Amino acid sequence: MITLSEAVDLVLAAVRPLPAERVPLLEALGRAAAADVVSPEAVPSFANSAMDGFALRGADLDEAQGAGLAIVAEIPAGSVAGVSLRAGEAARIMTGAPLPDGADTVVQVEHVEERDGKVFVREAPPVGRNVRSAGEDVRVGDVVLSQGAPLGPAELGLLASIGVEELSVARRPRVAVLATGSELVSLGRPLGPGQIRNSNSFAAWGQVLAAGGEPVLLGIAVDDPAETRRLVTRALDEDVVITSGGVSVGDYDFVKQVEAELGVESRFWGVAVKPGKPAAFGVREGRLVFGAPGNPVAAMVTFELYIRPALLALQGRRDIWRPWLTAVAAEPVKATRDRVEVRRCLLQRDEAGAWHFTTTGPQGSGILRSMVQADGLVFVPSGHAGGRVGDPYTVMVLEGSRPERPPFPS
Ligand code: AMP
Ligand code: MG
Repeated sequence: MITLSEAVDLVLAAVRPLPAERVPLLEALGRAAAADVVSPEAVPSFANSAMDGFALRGADLDEAQGAGLAIVAEIPAGSVAGVSLRAGEAARIMTGAPLPDGADTVVQVEHVEERDGKVFVREAPPVGRNVRSAGEDVRVGDVVLSQGAPLGPAELGLLASIGVEELSVARRPRVAVLATGSELVSLGRPLGPGQIRNSNSFAAWGQVLAAGGEPVLLGIAVDDPAETRRLVTRALDEDVVITSGGVSVGDYDFVKQVEAELGVESRFWGVAVKPGKPAAFGVREGRLVFGAPGNPVAAMVTFELYIRPALLALQGRRDIWRPWLTAVAAEPVKATRDRVEVRRCLLQRDEAGAWHFTTTGPQGSGILRSMVQADGLVFVPSGHAGGRVGDPYTVMVLEGSRPERPPFPS
């Protein structure tokens, strides 16, 4: 058995980012830039007003406070300035409208008075105020996104602001999901004696999609070498294979043997982690082949520990880790034996800002409800003598955690 950390290293060492593809901007959400994005445009592309008010020459501010400046133009947003200001002149200007030549300052409309076609400034601003200069946000040639940057809503907005209509993103990994076990039945069929429903394929579907992959559900392989071979062969067409079940040491666990026969090179089998001890990993021609245990929680935890980071790394993502934090135990922590234990927990923040955790009830590796409620996974080291209330542990925060409303300041 290897350690959790060694297993993570072996998985990440086997990852080669997938080739890139060009997609329209609207399809880039949630993906990763495959190359640096260099701006072809400046933002803003012209000097413009940050306020509704009057554009003027800073050198005329004294006169504007005394004799006033002649209003020679009106410049709404979306128009061209069309004038060049001479000494003693001002232009009425709207937010976002181009600054006329000669102007270098805008006085907001609340700070002026108008009389007889002239504007008088009550409160003189410093020269240059309320002007957004060309290129102040982005200059032509700036690297606005670097390779591997995840593309969220703000990135889409930024790319649109520089006129990018399509871009190069890493291809999404196609991920075969195969359940194994003669006891399994598909959804929609009645449960016969000794049968259970296949839940792992559904949890895996969600986990793969949430990690940017394209799940390919291959159904259930009964515990028979020929059937397992047929479906694993099909699964090996995809970039990544996730099987669940059939990797323990039972008489009907055929997945390892069949994969070896099909040329999958084993990188590990057995990790000192609970749940998830029988997890297996191998590679075949650049494809990543994960054998998750059959127990539903073990399968989901295995995904979180190795498969999710690998799927993100395949997409060239730099941010492959979940956020994590140090939380203190709000209840005594049970001792561990020779494996790291990954317990599902709820998180709560106290008034001082410290995080506290409690486990989500029974932690058996088949008890999916322990996962449903979980805000995070708490890591308890192997050989741990047990912990007291207040002892600190590392918690990985899961998707779907339930944060509270933040204390918005006034
Ligand atoms: P195995 O690793 O094949 O020995 O399976 C371990 C346990 O997980 C057994 O109790 C199986 O019935 C259960 N199990 C295996 N596959 C699934 C699945 N796809 N959905 C739900 N439970 C499963
Ligand atoms: Mg089985």
